[in-house]
Amino acid sequence: MSKAKRRTRIESARRKHWDMIVVGGGITGAGVAREAARRGLSVLVLEQKDFAWGTSSRSSKMVHGGLRYLAMGDRKLTRESLLERERLLKEAPGLVERMGYYFLLPKSWKPWRLVMKLLLASYDRIAGIKNHKICNNSELGEAFSKLDQNGITGAAFYTDAVTDDSRLVYRVLQEAEADGASLLNYCAVKSSQKADTEHQSVEIQDAISGEVFQCKASVIVNSTGAWADRLRQARIDEQRVRPLKGSHIVLRKGVLPIEHAISCQHPDDKRSVFVFPWEGHSVIGTTDLDYEGSLDQEANISKEELEYLLAIVRHHFPSESIDRKDIVSTWSGVRPVIAGDKQFARAQKAEQGSADKTRKKPSKERRDHAVWDDDGLISAAGGKLTTFRVMALDVLEKAAPYLKGWQFERDEAAVFRPGGAKKNAQANLNEDQLDRLEACYGFRTSDFLATAKNEELKPLFDQKTCAAQLRWALREEWVEHLDDLLLRRTRLGLLLPNGASQLFELCKTLCQEELEWSEQRWAEELERYQDIWHRAYSLPA
Ligand SMILES: Cc1cc2nc3c(=O)[nH]c(=O)nc-3n(C[C@H](O)[C@H](O)[C@H](O)COP(=O)(O)OP(=O)(O)OC[C@H]3O[C@@H](n4cnc5c(N)ncnc54)[C@H](O)[C@@H]3O)c2cc1C
Repeated sequence: MSKAKRRTRIESARRKHWDMIVVGGGITGAGVAREAARRGLSVLVLEQKDFAWGTSSRSSKMVHGGLRYLAMGDRKLTRESLLERERLLKEAPGLVERMGYYFLLPKSWKPWRLVMKLLLASYDRIAGIKNHKICNNSELGEAFSKLDQNGITGAAFYTDAVTDDSRLVYRVLQEAEADGASLLNYCAVKSSQKADTEHQSVEIQDAISGEVFQCKASVIVNSTGAWADRLRQARIDEQRVRPLKGSHIVLRKGVLPIEHAISCQHPDDKRSVFVFPWEGHSVIGTTDLDYEGSLDQEANISKEELEYLLAIVRHHFPSESIDRKDIVSTWSGVRPVIAGDKQFARAQKAEQGSADKTRKKPSKERRDHAVWDDDGLISAAGGKLTTFRVMALDVLEKAAPYLKGWQFERDEAAVFRPGGAKKNAQANLNEDQLDRLEACYGFRTSDFLATAKNEELKPLFDQKTCAAQLRWALREEWVEHLDDLLLRRTRLGLLLPNGASQLFELCKTLCQEELEWSEQRWAEELERYQDIWHRAYSLPA
């Protein structure tokens, strides 16, 4: 964002009394802002780092019902998620895409085949589709020719969906902005106070200028994910979020190419781990561990996690001899899981010194969300990427009593405006490229095409992203740092070797043209980016 535009936004943020201030610019905050702005509320979104910097750019990127949750008997969460999955598939084609999943069936599970069949039938029935089967080993071999079938008796095939999580956040924010929401990244909320019965205030630090300022609203939404307890602390003395870390590895293009996701049992602990196609690469993940590191920096993969994930592919695809050299990048996210009351008490006890042997295993934790009202500070945490709209509606329902004269109604209105750019299709773009652009920019695709230079529409290297998308992000998508551009607006830093070092010269030119970065600013940005990439997106030493 240009300096002048940012200045104007901060000035208006200070002056105005907002209906709602949303703290946290991940998928939860974006969803709340979108639903609130659509209903006519004035909304300010504040994000301490970059939009989608938190968990929402570092998930497993699945828009799914969660077969596992159904198997665990959580029908409500599964149903809610499946209906949202189907809605997103319809509303955001290209951004959310159906994907086939093969759940490997070990020989020891043979007696359970019928149960699996019933589970799949129920999963599809809830979603209103029919696309599942139990495959034998020969069908499985057709889908995964390199899979070692030793000890396996086929697979359960079903479908879910996959997305680009940070692009999903930007599409939702773009909708909120179009309905009048004001968005400010790199603005951390330091505290929130109840000023009087009708006013709340927050103290904000602008990370770019260092300036501290106040903003006022009728209600504050705390959608800070794994950080949610921090903002609540001034109002209530309890800790409800259990941060769980999950890591992934991204294989180099061409290594273990697959077209469908496969869920494999880990040879050591029998946990299920996915190997799935994403952006033309294969990704392996996730781990699921209590996170004790700092929340103020990106989490990163440990040596043990790396070995754990490599052990999966080595076990199931031994002929491929996958090794560190085959990995192009990694990422780790911290899941804000809600600890139940009893568990919370146990966690506290454990903190006070008595070891907590009864604490649930991370992968046994429930994944549903919770919304709390602490005197006008409405906090929402937990849940999934998939269910952001449901979470947003629950937040608005809790916020309504603080918004005088405003009535909340739960409706089924679309999150996304229709695209429709194909009418203005440029002759030099093929159908795939257009679909891809529409997936990224939705109703703004025509604006993108109207301003894109022809020579910048060619995909960069072996990727699907083009230079015009980098330029658009710098102009239109609130970019402040190089890492915003390469790790979240585009995923080139995760997909091209060495954090996309072959694009640095191009990025420098574009940043200088669009954001007027000086030589010195570029050098600082490059150093910052490389530090982040080596620390959080590459391999552990
Ligand atoms: C490894 C892993 C895999 C997952 N896979 C899936 C999946 O496949 N499908 C699925 O549906 N879900 C998945 N999830 C869950 C999903 O990613 C999360 O539930 C979701 O992204 C949480 O979004 P959020 O907006 O609540 O939190 P975040 O995305 O973390 O956003 C919170 C934001 O608040 C900001 N913030 C914090 N404090 C402040 C402050 N004081 N002031 C301003 N801003 C602040 C943070 O910087 C952050 O950007 C996964 C999670 C993990 C960890």
